[in-house]
Amino acid sequence: MGKEFDTGLMWFRRDLRTDDNAALYHALKRCNKVHCVFVFDKEILDALPRADRRVEFIRESLVELDMSIRELAKNKNAGLIIQHAWASDELPKLAQELKVQAVFTNHDYEPQAVHRDAVVLGKLAGLGIAFHTFKDHVIFERTEVLTQMGKPYGVFTPYKNACLKKLNDFYLKPYPVEKYTSSLTERPISYQRSVPTLAEIGFEATNLATLKIPTGMSGGRTLFEDFFDRMDDYHATRDFPAVKGPSYLGVHLRFGTVSIRKLAATAHQRTIVGSQGAAVWLSELIWRDFYFQILSNFPHAATGAFKPEYDAIKWEQGEHAKKLFTAWCEGKTGYPLVDAAMAQINQTGYMHNRLRMVVASFLVKDLGIDWRWGERYFAEHLNDFDQSANNGGWQWASSSGCDAQPYFRIFNPTSQSEKFDSEGKFIRKYLPQLSKLPNSAIHEPWDTKPIELQAANVTLGDSYPYPVVNHAQAREKTLLRYAVVKRH
Ligand SMILES: Cc1cc2nc3c(=O)[nH]c(=O)nc-3n(C[C@H](O)[C@H](O)[C@H](O)COP(=O)(O)OP(=O)(O)OC[C@H]3O[C@@H](n4cnc5c(N)ncnc54)[C@H](O)[C@@H]3O)c2cc1C
Repeated sequence: MGKEFDTGLMWFRRDLRTDDNAALYHALKRCNKVHCVFVFDKEILDALPRADRRVEFIRESLVELDMSIRELAKNKNAGLIIQHAWASDELPKLAQELKVQAVFTNHDYEPQAVHRDAVVLGKLAGLGIAFHTFKDHVIFERTEVLTQMGKPYGVFTPYKNACLKKLNDFYLKPYPVEKYTSSLTERPISYQRSVPTLAEIGFEATNLATLKIPTGMSGGRTLFEDFFDRMDDYHATRDFPAVKGPSYLGVHLRFGTVSIRKLAATAHQRTIVGSQGAAVWLSELIWRDFYFQILSNFPHAATGAFKPEYDAIKWEQGEHAKKLFTAWCEGKTGYPLVDAAMAQINQTGYMHNRLRMVVASFLVKDLGIDWRWGERYFAEHLNDFDQSANNGGWQWASSSGCDAQPYFRIFNPTSQSEKFDSEGKFIRKYLPQLSKLPNSAIHEPWDTKPIELQAANVTLGDSYPYPVVNHAQAREKTLLRYAVVKRH
């Protein structure tokens, strides 16, 4: 039986895998011949620093994706067409050149991507080429889960309950891409090139390899297999940064080198047989969906407070604010857990979830800095940066978000440190200059007897900073700062 289209183009973006990929499955099923493309989008890349772990992660993952396409096609001339250009110009140009009748891709929910896709849709329509897009990146998207009144949820727990009620095999079953791989076709000779090097797209190598962050589909698989044995304990281990508790799959979810359906299906099955850890982990995957639907349904949250009355808050300004912000970025606040966490993100591009909450709260509620400054810093430094989760996390910490913590709940950085890194193992790893301090002193070096500091080779103001603020005073100031919200 003839297929709907003779030739199609699969456009990979944040779904760098061949297994269980919705758009790839539909392209292969509906077209006789399918080309595959990835565009290193100059609109995004030109704004990044020249050494960026995310770009290297993508590049390494493309090498594997390219090889996988060739293997599935059983044709050494098949593979990925890789371009380095403005995607919104390049994609329609390429579609025309390859004489395709349809382009297939998976939804991307970030405002900039939504705009880009609207431009591409318009240009393709002008050329008489169809543009088919699919849900792939989340379990439920946009308006799939609504309240009984037909409105988007703004509170997590009822959203999660509605998701769990709706969740079944239909939403979790994998797309059997392997059934249709004979449609994968050869690349035109001029596109039969290997994946460009970092230098060829204007970037430098990072410490990704030294960090041993596994890339590509195989990397995602390895991390998930490793986590599977730990999943049942997740609820008990996930809050302690010195313990290997979480999955470290964030960057793979970000770039689609793992399938969310596969992860959620596994967690769901384990939840049904009574695993508490799996249930909590599944909740975290639902938080991810939740923030995607928030950004889709409440796009104003991308730039302003979800609850607009929080935009009335006056944040610290001028040189004083800049100095405090720099101390935070560089991990020189004098609060060891905060500084160790900032060292972790600066050295590795990862930060443990508990610490993301601690440092975000510290920036906003101890230093009085606008949460958007921290949001931007995370966007530049996190390997797993995702606009929806990052915005959601920052607005949660600043109390301006949907279902955020109340504004008068202010994390005490010392108690957080004593509770979640009681033996200072995490602090010692990232702040070796404090490694000789006893457990009793490591959370608050400024409150330690000079003789103890001397014995541990710590000189405050020299080898380690004095605290940039006094937490108790900062807390009072924050309550006053947030009083403006009460008046609305
Ligand atoms: C201020 C702040 C900023 C954040 N920025 C991001 C971000 O840019 N990108 C990002 O993916 N997550 C972000 N998070 C959420 C969370 O910290 C990370 O998803 C998690 O630490 C990633 O590590 P992991 O893969 O080992 O997670 P695991 O604990 O193994 O969780 C599995 C997956 O569930 C999802 N998830 C877990 N917790 C959350 C959450 N609270 N919100 C949304 N999704 C979640 C992630 O996709 C994660 O990879 C942020 C949290 C805060 C408080």
